[in-house]
Amino acid sequence: AKAPVNVTVTGAAGQIGYALLFRIASGQLLGADTPVKLRLLEIPQAVKAAEGTAMELDDCAFPLLAGIDIFDDPRKAFDGVNVALLVGARPRTKGMERGDLLEANGGIFGPQGEAINAGAADDVRVLVVGNPANTNALIAQAHAPDIPAERFTAMTRLDHNRALSQLAAKLNVGVSDIKKMTIWGNHSATQYPDIFHAEVNGRNAAEAVNDEEWLRDTFIPTVAKRGAAIIEARGASSAASAANAAIDHVYDWVNGTPEGDWTSVALPSDGSYGVPEGLISSFPAVSRNGSWEIVQGLEINEFSRERIDASVRELEEERDAVRKLGLI
Ligand code: NDP
Repeated sequence: AKAPVNVTVTGAAGQIGYALLFRIASGQLLGADTPVKLRLLEIPQAVKAAEGTAMELDDCAFPLLAGIDIFDDPRKAFDGVNVALLVGARPRTKGMERGDLLEANGGIFGPQGEAINAGAADDVRVLVVGNPANTNALIAQAHAPDIPAERFTAMTRLDHNRALSQLAAKLNVGVSDIKKMTIWGNHSATQYPDIFHAEVNGRNAAEAVNDEEWLRDTFIPTVAKRGAAIIEARGASSAASAANAAIDHVYDWVNGTPEGDWTSVALPSDGSYGVPEGLISSFPAVSRNGSWEIVQGLEINEFSRERIDASVRELEEERDAVRKLGLI
């Protein structure tokens, strides 16, 4: 039998945590033959709630769940970690400026990066879900100098999945008929969902849509503002779909993306597509032998270039702001 994989989840008592942990424990994160040990990190006032979730996890009697430990100290939570899901973050509250938000999150993701650097297993993979996810990932990565930078990723898979679903509805096809969707840039309202390279049953998706107005005025804003629409409808932010995307992201990272397709991942730029090196920006990516590779050689038209540049500019501003605050 395989040795258990250590999976650390931060913000484990939150909404996304609740939707995520049961799926990890049931084998959906890594595969049905891989036992997992869960290591839950919470802030002290939420430890009790995490204990409640752990009781429910016990009560599922998941055959693959090899243990659950709960911590309020990142050093302990990340000791031996193989997969780190950084979900807990400081949400923006009323009257909070962006600088305050970045600073509060620097206080969370800096120490978590240090703890990962100090204690993680050699093969550690980190996915940041907590917002502002790209910049939180940058902060964590900057505090983990001994770990290859490309092990730090941020989640744009939910945006990717939302884009697949919107495009499938428009073209009246199934989501699995669509390949090669791309989300570029920041996981924020400036993100750019790009269908110019996407294929619908082998045909170019932009040509199949053939409606620039829909693309510009409906598709892009619907994908980018979907989170707000869900809050409006549900009275709470998306949680199960965010957890689902985190599962997809790690599953593909570990097990590889399917031949003939790619996905979207925010990872440290190597300078591809004019994105400044080191920025954690979303790209089209495939996973091969357990590592992400940015899909190369795509032609970027003017429509796309403008939008990629705008989102990357926002990422640069966030990076400059956290640099100024001494957080990276
Ligand atoms: P959620 O579980 O709903 O969300 C957690 C984070 O995920 C938020 O930053 C949220 O961003 C982000 N997120 C990213 N993508 C999405 C998406 N598509 N939809 C919704 N959220 C998304 O938050 P809760 O408040 O329920 O729980 C957070 C938990 O984290 C709490 O239990 C808290 O105690 C804990 N926490 C733990 C820390 C730690 O372990 N050190 C540190 C800080 C908090 P957004 O706010 O923009 O929606």
